[in-house]
Amino acid sequence: MAENKKAIISSTRDLVEKYGLMAKKTLGQNFLLDGNITDKIVRLSLAEQKKGDWAGETVVEVGPGPGGLTQAVLRKNPKLLRVIEMDDRCLDILREIRGYYPQLDIVCGDALQFDWQDMAEREGKFHIISNLPYHVSVALLLEWLKKASCFKSLTLMFQKEVADRITAVPGGKNYGRVSVISQLQCEIVRLFDLPPTCFVPAPKIWSSVLLFKPRPEPVEPALLEKVEKLTEKAFGQRRKMIRQSLKSVSGLERMAAEVGIELTWRAEDLSVQQYLALAQMM
Ligand code: SAM
Repeated sequence: MAENKKAIISSTRDLVEKYGLMAKKTLGQNFLLDGNITDKIVRLSLAEQKKGDWAGETVVEVGPGPGGLTQAVLRKNPKLLRVIEMDDRCLDILREIRGYYPQLDIVCGDALQFDWQDMAEREGKFHIISNLPYHVSVALLLEWLKKASCFKSLTLMFQKEVADRITAVPGGKNYGRVSVISQLQCEIVRLFDLPPTCFVPAPKIWSSVLLFKPRPEPVEPALLEKVEKLTEKAFGQRRKMIRQSLKSVSGLERMAAEVGIELTWRAEDLSVQQYLALAQMM
């Protein structure tokens, strides 16, 4: 059945041409028009989750645009695919796709305002997939990490430089606040990197697709907030020793001794678990 639909529905490139959709820079629009690439994102994400398709699963896509990734998800048979797009110029294309796939639910709005917790409470845990608009990618990620227990997985495209920061290990210049919070809440797998030529229009930089698998027991919001404050202070003065950058943390000396860290260390020397241990004592 899915194979028949694939033969009938127009390619994303044809849909973009038919509806005259021009990418807008202010909305972070760099489209994926090649079905081989969108299929690869979905295929590698599913394989890493040991799944052959999305059967029985609910998926949310942020920023479907002209629907290339949307069609790739739909070809793998989700129970429901909800897409959230703030550019109403994309709606006619998405409605045409819905004509072939009734399990597509189109929401026109700002993903930054969407209530993820409410959806999870009403409909159960779900998957997120997105070729993220680069200007809101970190804000969305931090919001999702706070609510990690709502999600089964997150398959996300970032600028490669941001992906490098998310996956960085201690000791290097890329390691920072977003690495600590991401790795605390999720196991992260880099699926693949894409050159600028994969997008229309082509950006200046490479991109990377990451799969986030929420940990079985993510850190609760109140404790996560403490980790956020701690890492903000530490990495805010990343060249200073923590004796200086964390001097406003009361009982620092005792806590550092208990966690097994030296006050002469810098922010990048502490592991994710050491940040968590410090936050638990605050
Ligand atoms: N998924 C499409 C693809 O891969 O070709 C488009 C990806 S494009 C990088 C990002 C999309 O996110 C655009 O369609 C843009 O209009 C949409 N977008 C930007 N900011 C948004 C927001 N705050 N909420 C929802 N969608 C947003």
